[in-house]
Amino acid sequence: EIDLTGDVAVVTGGASGIGRRISLTLAEHGADVVVADLQSDPREGGDPTHERIDAEFEGTGRYVECDVTEPSELETAVEAAETLGGVSIMVNNAGISRSEDFLEIDEAAYDRMMEINAKGVFFGAQAAADRMIDAGREGSIVNLASISGVTGRATGVHYCASKGAVRVMTYAMAAALGPHDIRANAVCPGLIESPMTRQDLGMFGEDRGATDTYERTAPLGRVGQPQDIADAVLYLSSPLSGFVTGESVIVDGGATNT
Ligand code: NAD
Repeated sequence: EIDLTGDVAVVTGGASGIGRRISLTLAEHGADVVVADLQSDPREGGDPTHERIDAEFEGTGRYVECDVTEPSELETAVEAAETLGGVSIMVNNAGISRSEDFLEIDEAAYDRMMEINAKGVFFGAQAAADRMIDAGREGSIVNLASISGVTGRATGVHYCASKGAVRVMTYAMAAALGPHDIRANAVCPGLIESPMTRQDLGMFGEDRGATDTYERTAPLGRVGQPQDIADAVLYLSSPLSGFVTGESVIVDGGATNT
């Protein structure tokens, strides 16, 4: 049994989809969790995020408003963890995805993708590492990349660029932080059913083309659920992975390597 009692986790984008499952799973295993996310999610009817978190986490999670494109707001989120004992697990999960043709992606769309998905991870990890090193505390940083940061896909060149950046910056973070007993690993999810894929990308609606193909061709014959990713993050956050750093773990039902 994995026991994270005494650990304090910060999960960016923790209010929805994969991040929500990660937050709840770390809390179920004893960690105190800071859920850092935008003030509201239009996909949730625009209700204030803090009300949902308060209800769902029943005291095991604390919500902090945080836009990951603002390094100072990431610092605020990490600061909130100090009052609980200090961050020891940092999960940089917040991200966006868009399906756009290469020739249609303008500069603003490119910048937005890189700002949230890559810059947000960079400064989230930096803020957490700074605190861990200051306190002389061991820690684990887990960054959400994607199989789209391992192989390319035609309708998301900017997304692939951002996720490839996350994967390789994670290796570099492991090199920089290992001497401080801080591990850094990436998780590369395959197709996971979440508000991102359901609502933003419309992959479970009328146009199920890519979803059907995934189910037909991935060895395990299904798309993933947020819990599949949360379980990998739990492992990478816990002492079970104590000798694992600078690694990226593909969690995709076998789709990429077969
Ligand atoms: P989601 O859209 O359901 O959740 C993303 C969360 O991030 C939301 O709560 C959103 O409010 C938050 N967020 C967005 N922009 C933010 C910002 N600027 N500051 C703070 N929070 C912000 O998406 P998901 O499917 O749960 O994805 C989570 C992560 O997993 C992302 O990094 C995504 O790229 C990655 N991923 C998802 C899939 C998939 O198939 N769903 C596959 C590979 C990788």
